[in-house]
Amino acid sequence: IKKIGPGQFLVKKLSMFRLEIVPRNFAAGSLVKNYPYNLGDRLTPPLIHFHLKLGHDPILTDGLIANLGLASNEELSAMKQLAQKVNIVLSAFLKKRGIILADFKFETGNDSEGKLTVGDEISSDSGRFWDEKNLISHDKDIFRCQTGDVKKAYKKLLSKIKSG
Ligand code: UDP
Repeated sequence: IKKIGPGQFLVKKLSMFRLEIVPRNFAAGSLVKNYPYNLGDRLTPPLIHFHLKLGHDPILTDGLIANLGLASNEELSAMKQLAQKVNIVLSAFLKKRGIILADFKFETGNDSEGKLTVGDEISSDSGRFWDEKNLISHDKDIFRCQTGDVKKAYKKLLSKIKSG
């Protein structure tokens, strides 16, 4: 809700789903590793994947989500709608600042009134943010691929976000 001090935030208590939601606008990471995509392929319409928060976070189908009792059909369709909305808003916000949102992960929960709500940070540790001019990463892929200074890149992303 708001920052109330150094490292302190006032937040809404949510009842969380054991799901990770991953909207993808461009192919990268496990999508390129496991499926016949090339890095950077545009995904139209965007893909929305669900992963189970367990072990190595396996990918889920709608059937598995229902069968495992992870969410009802109504909750699942609300999550898909929310994922589309967050993706559209965030992509547009970043595009204005010269950043391509390739993919990101977030989690959701219900508030005390049963309203589906984003309950997560969305950061360079949980998404892929590419410079629209040269496609350079401003995210954890820098660490994984050892392509630069992580702290410097995160700071650059922050300054781009603040510049808008
Ligand atoms: N992601 C995450 N936490 C996870 C799994 C994925 O934050 O437990 C994010 C990841 O940073 C990327 C997106 O979700 O932005 C898609 O991840 P992917 O399946 O490509 O896995 P990766 O290869 O990044 O591990």
